[in-house]
Parts: sequence; C-alpha cells; structure tokens
Amino acid sequence: MDIYDPKTIEPRWRQFWLDKKVYQPDLAVAKKPYYNLMMFPYPSAEGLHVGNMYAFTGADVHGRFKRMQGFDVFQPIGLDGFGIHSENYAIKVGRHPKEHAKISEKHFYEQLHMIGDGFAWDQKLETYDPEYYRWTQWLFVQMYKHNLAYRKKAMVNWCPSCKTVLSDEQVEGGVCERCKTATTRKETEQWFFKITAYADQLLNNIPKLNWPKKITIAQQNWIGKKEGVIIHHKVNGLKVTLDAFSAYPAWLFADTFLVIAPDHPIIEDLQLEDKYYKDYKGFLNETKKITVEARQADKFEKKGVFTGRYVRDPFTGGDMPIWLANFALLDVGTGIIRCSSHDPRDYEFAKKYDISLREIVERNKEEPDKPIHAHINKGTLKNSGEFTGRNVEDILEEIVEWIVEKKIGKRVTTYHLRDWLISRQRYWGPPIPMVNCPKCGWNPMPEDQLPVLLPDIKDFKPTGDGLSPLQKAPKSWLETVCPKCGGVAKRETDVSDTFLDSSWYFLAYPNLKTKEFRHSSLRGAQRRGNLAEGNIDIAKARSLDFARDDSKSPFNLELTKKWLPVNAYIGGAEHAVLHLLYARFVWMCFKDWGYLSGIDSPEPFPSLFSHGLIIKDGAKMSKSRGNVVNPDEYINRYGADALRMYLMFLGSYDQGGDFRDTGMVGMYRFLERIWRAFQKQIKTSGKAGSRSAGQNSDKEIERILNKTIKKVTEDIAKFKYNTAIASLMEFMNAYEERVSDGKENILSTDDAGKLIKLFAPFAPYITEEIWHYLYPDSSGSIHSSSWPEYNSKILEGEMVEIPVQINGKTRAIISADQSTAKSQSGIEKMAMEDLSVMRYIEGKKINKIIFVSGKIINLIVN
Ligand SMILES: [Zn+2]
Ligand SMILES: [Zn+2]
Repeated sequence: MDIYDPKTIEPRWRQFWLDKKVYQPDLAVAKKPYYNLMMFPYPSAEGLHVGNMYAFTGADVHGRFKRMQGFDVFQPIGLDGFGIHSENYAIKVGRHPKEHAKISEKHFYEQLHMIGDGFAWDQKLETYDPEYYRWTQWLFVQMYKHNLAYRKKAMVNWCPSCKTVLSDEQVEGGVCERCKTATTRKETEQWFFKITAYADQLLNNIPKLNWPKKITIAQQNWIGKKEGVIIHHKVNGLKVTLDAFSAYPAWLFADTFLVIAPDHPIIEDLQLEDKYYKDYKGFLNETKKITVEARQADKFEKKGVFTGRYVRDPFTGGDMPIWLANFALLDVGTGIIRCSSHDPRDYEFAKKYDISLREIVERNKEEPDKPIHAHINKGTLKNSGEFTGRNVEDILEEIVEWIVEKKIGKRVTTYHLRDWLISRQRYWGPPIPMVNCPKCGWNPMPEDQLPVLLPDIKDFKPTGDGLSPLQKAPKSWLETVCPKCGGVAKRETDVSDTFLDSSWYFLAYPNLKTKEFRHSSLRGAQRRGNLAEGNIDIAKARSLDFARDDSKSPFNLELTKKWLPVNAYIGGAEHAVLHLLYARFVWMCFKDWGYLSGIDSPEPFPSLFSHGLIIKDGAKMSKSRGNVVNPDEYINRYGADALRMYLMFLGSYDQGGDFRDTGMVGMYRFLERIWRAFQKQIKTSGKAGSRSAGQNSDKEIERILNKTIKKVTEDIAKFKYNTAIASLMEFMNAYEERVSDGKENILSTDDAGKLIKLFAPFAPYITEEIWHYLYPDSSGSIHSSSWPEYNSKILEGEMVEIPVQINGKTRAIISADQSTAKSQSGIEKMAMEDLSVMRYIEGKKINKIIFVSGKIINLIVN
C-alpha cells in the first residue's frame, strides 16, 4: 500500500464483491427489504455516457447508504433494448438490430461493472429477451381481455423520419420524442390502450405521491380534467348537430360564432357550396403544415375561413356563422368551439374577419379597450336572458342545471388525456400477439402460445408506407391457426410501443427467477420457435393442445408483496408524461385484475427523486459540439471512484452541474490525500505510544468527526451529496492541519473506521481497500458494515445557528451553544444585542416574540 493506484485496486474489489455476493440480497429471506431502483436505461450504442453514469451513481449512493443502515437493498439493473431508439441506431451503423443489441448489451454491462454500482446481477433483464417479452405480450392480451385494448381508425401522429405512428405523449412540442423530426397527422387503423378509463384514478392519486412538483404538475396538466357543458347546435337546413364544449357556462349568452378544427371529419357533412368547399380544402392543407404546438401558441397568427353555414344558437335563438379556424384543435374538447368577445383569442379572430360580437359583462374602467376575460368568472350579467342582472359567481351551478333542463346541452367532464396508441410500424419490438381470422375477426393469441417470437428477417427497415416490416416475414410466420375456429388466420404485423416494455419491468425484477415467471416457457418457446421458423405444418399445430389457463401470471405473490412498491425510484424528469404515466396505469390495471393482491399501495413508485443534468464547460453536451464526456476515458485515467466522487460533488444532485476536467483532477488529488492520510494512520498504529483499537482519538478531531458523521448522514438521506462531500473535505482539512502541527496518529482505529465508512457510498473501491488494511482480519466488505452513528454527547458543546427574524424576514443569524439555544430568554438577549437586529427594531415596538426552541426566533414589531 504505497501509491494510490485505482487500476490495481478497482478490478480486485469488483471481483471480491461478485464472489461474496455483497450486493445480491436473497430475495426470499430478506428481513428488511428496500427496493432501490434507477429508471430503466436504454443505452445508446456508444454505451453509457456521463449523464447515465451521473444518474446511476446518485442512485447507487442512496442504495449503499441504505444497505449500511441495515436494509436488504435490492438494486437491479437491466436494459430497455427494444424500440425505435436502438433500431434507428442499428440502421445508422448498418447492422441488424438483433446483432447490434448483442454488441451494445455487452459493452453496457462491462461499463456498469466498471463504475462500481452495487447491482444485483442475478436479476438482470433485457426487454428483447423472449422470456421477458413473452409477458409483455401477455400484458397486451390481458388488456384485450379486460376491454382495455381496442383497434380503431383515427387521426394519429406520424413521424416521417421514424416512419411510424407515435402516441400523443411521444410528440413533444410537435416533434418526435426520439428523433426530433416534426410530426404530421395521418389517418390509419391502430391498436390503443384505454388509459383514459383510469384518468380519474391517475389524477386523484397525485396528491399521495412524494414526487417533485414539476413532474406531478406535468401529469396533472397532461390528464387535463375539465368540467363543463356540451352544447348542441342544429345546423340550419341540414340534419347535422354540432356539439361544442365550454368550461365557462355562465358566459354562453355572449357567444356569436362557432369555429371548427379544419381537420374535423364533420366538415364533410356540412355539404359546403363549391366556393366554400374549395376554401376549406386549401385552408386544411395550409394548416396541416403547422405543428399542433405552434397552433396553440399565444402569438400564433389566427386564421380561418367561413363555411357559408350557420347554426341556431340555443341561447339567443339567433344564427351563428360557422367558421374553420387554425387555433381549433381536433383533440381539444370536441374540436368545435363556441366563440365570444370574452376570450382574447376569439376576439382577435372576430375583429380580423369582421364577425359581430356581443358583450355580457361591462368592461373595466381601467381597461376600456378590452372586453372582460371570461376566465375570471366574475361580473354582473347583461344581455343574458333570464340571467340578466345576476352575478356570474352566483349562477355557475344554476346555469348548468338550466342548460340540462332546457335540453340545450349536457353536463360533461373532459380530459386532455387520450388513449395510448400502442402499435408501431417498426421491426424491433415484441409482435403484437393478435391474429385476424377471416371468419372470427381479431383474437388474442392463447396465453400458453406466447411469446410470438420476433422472426429474423433481413429486410427489417421501416417501409414508410405505413406498413410494418414484419409484412415481409415468411408466410410460415404470417399465417397461424385461429385460436377460435382453427382455420388459417393472419398475425398482426405491428409491434408494440417500447414504452409498453418499460411499463412493468420493475415488477419483473424480483420475479425473474421464480417458477411463475419462467413456467413452461421453454417448452412453449420450442414449440413456438418451430412455428415461427415455419418447419411445422399447420395441421400438426392444430392438433396441439391450446388449452387456456387464465390464472397464470408472471408474479410470485409473496415475493412481489415483499418487494413492491419500489421504495426509491430515481431518474430524470424527461419522462414525466411518458414512462411515469404509463407505469402508473399498468400498475393500476394489474391491481384491478387481481395480480397484485395483498399489495396496498395504489401506486408503483410512491417516492420519486429526479436528478439534474450534467453539462460540460458550461454547455449542453452534444456530439456536434464534440464535448460529450466519455466516462471510460476518465475511469481509465483517474479510476471510477474519482469520477463518482466528482460527479456527486459538482452540484446538488437534483440540479446537476458543470463537468470540468480541472475539477476532475482536483477530485483525484483529494482521493490521493485520503489515501496518504490512512497510510500514515495505518503505518503508525500499533507502534509504541500510538493509538490502536480501544484507545481514544484526539479530543478535537473526535468532535469534528462526530459533527461530520451527523452532517453526512443527514445530507445523504436528503440526496444532498455535494454538501456531504464538502463536509468530508472540511474534515480532511482539519485532520491534515493537526497532523502538520506535528500530531501523528490522531485517530483511533475505531474512529478511522467510522471515517472511511462515510466515504464508502461515494467511493466504493478505495474505501474497501483501506477498510481491509484497517481490519486485516475482516473477511467481509465495508459495504455490508453498519453506518456509523455520531455521539450526541460529544456534540453538545457544539454551537447552533439561530436565525433572527423580524416580521418573518431573517435579518441576522446568531450563534449559541446548545443549552442557550434552547432558552428563550438567552436567545432574546443575544438577539437584542445583535447590531443588525438593533438597526431593524430601533424606535419600534415589539408586539410579540415567537421562539422555537433551538431553531428560530421571530420578533413581531411595528
Ligand atoms: Zn422520429
Ligand atoms: Zn377463426
């Protein structure tokens, strides 16, 4: 043990941990289960970038801390390798996705081993493993059986670059979530999951979640629940009714015109005159070129065309012109809007096209050029029939009843959330396990015939014509036996969305080795493999027993109950309305179907921590900038410990930070300092007059150590890793100062052991090495040892900082010893003597003093 050389230390301990199964809990016997999970990675082909490593390390620190606190920590890892992301990359580098997956999987796991995370390697999973996707397909079948999967023709999002349809959640700001190409709309027949059936539950559970606010708000907005009314309008001269939604029923007497989304199918029913029909077609083409996001923006230029048609207004009995407008969206409300002067957008539109307007609440004197905005829901009504003279606030409920009674419309609740579009016209995913029989229509594959293996086809590239590449699979795959009539049926050739693969993986981890998860799959897979490769004839397949057993599930209830829900879920915020919404939905389904009986939690991830992002030298990392940090290089040069410590130090974990090479070098030097300090400690301990086990540390250093233990323990618990490391640095400064004063060997072995444990979650390798020097007889790992506790007696002499507030604003901070901090008279006296406090209270009368013992004092003055 001379110089610090991570290259020799790190591989040695890596092997030690594997051999000793340090991070592999026995899932069945664990007494204090703690499921620590980082969001499922979908490694890019270049492998882990430093952003992934940042995410993983922060989660790993948490897991290590919990393990040392006595929990049986289960921290599994796997990869989300199916999907457009991996497939697009495979196409780019000219490999078959299957071949590419093998290469990237190997690299990914090698890197993960390098960074020293405490993973339970026995339970790793890959979504493209047939053992896994067999159950993803099973999940699809359950959705179908519970009437939550259906096929319908609809206008859907289309990514021209990925050549597939996308769900609403996968279009962010009008562009494809994966490739950032602007998406278009396309009408096709697709499979959907009825996530909207769970809209209320998804919304109502949000207050129960211990999640970052920005994520819960994003989900709330995405679900977008609105209560209101739907008003029916008869089109003059036609047998057509137009329904429009309003969330502000008290303002409906003001409406003077109707607008329709230009892509609304009902326009065809309006039998427009040639001139108007031409205008409509031209306008539709123009609008199609604009993204939905742009159409919703405030500053966007509102445009429209008149249809030549009118409806009868059920409120006033008058005629309202029907317009088409680019701000009306098919997916918002009914795609048809009643418009009035009391909406700034409608007002601007009406002024532009000279449409007549009416106001039903007087304008504000301060803003005479602007009608009142209906969203304030205040004011005295005029021109409002029998409601004239009433206050808006008073009739909110009454007018809804009146509307229903008069059969003008009905009460409704609308949502922004749409059903989850689940089919993809791509190759690299689990084939949707449905078959279409000319006689019996669509039916799910019998569960004991799953998985439907993804066939090996050479020409896997997306076709771009809306057809799946699997249509080019051999006939022997495309054709199968109808589970109902035994005739020849055709397989679905679309694959399912990657987000389905990741919607339930956290439930699979604890179950991977159970007989429930693996039951009969090998036998089945062989049979199906034959079917898939086409070397079994249909007649023979028909004779096989396709008995269904609905009780089969991938979950061992006892284990699942023990490990779920996830205790700590750690990941980025970018999947706020994607994975995090889908996984909640799937969990609720499993619960309702009885597959999770005995688990009370209404949610899979009651506690979520979202980490920040890493930038490099002040700029976002990107390949075009050439500033992407490759962790492998840094690990080779400085070791994984230095990189881990640096990543955890460069900012608060929920905020992220700026990666700079100089900082990296600084952290490496810091580890060298720790190394040298312990080397000295070890060399001198055991010498005559030195402090060996049982002897006490230097008093002052013991006090600082106890303070550091307290601080590091509290900070790690709150994911404040950077400040925990900062306090460890402070400790090392104090320690070295005393050593340079000529004091040698100032720590007892016991305290040295406590100190090195504080570093262990951050730097697992170096701490393991030092641990074994300190305790040469120990055969175990520092990472299985118990977290140090501080001695509160030693800390009693510590000073406490008490903020002094004046009328609730902090004006000074005073420092008091522990006992004074708890005495009101003591703190009051100190506060009054503080110069800045005196300045604030000079000449004022103190009305009240609020004192929270040991915490804060607040003077109320006037
Ligand atoms: Zn795309
Ligand atoms: Zn049939």
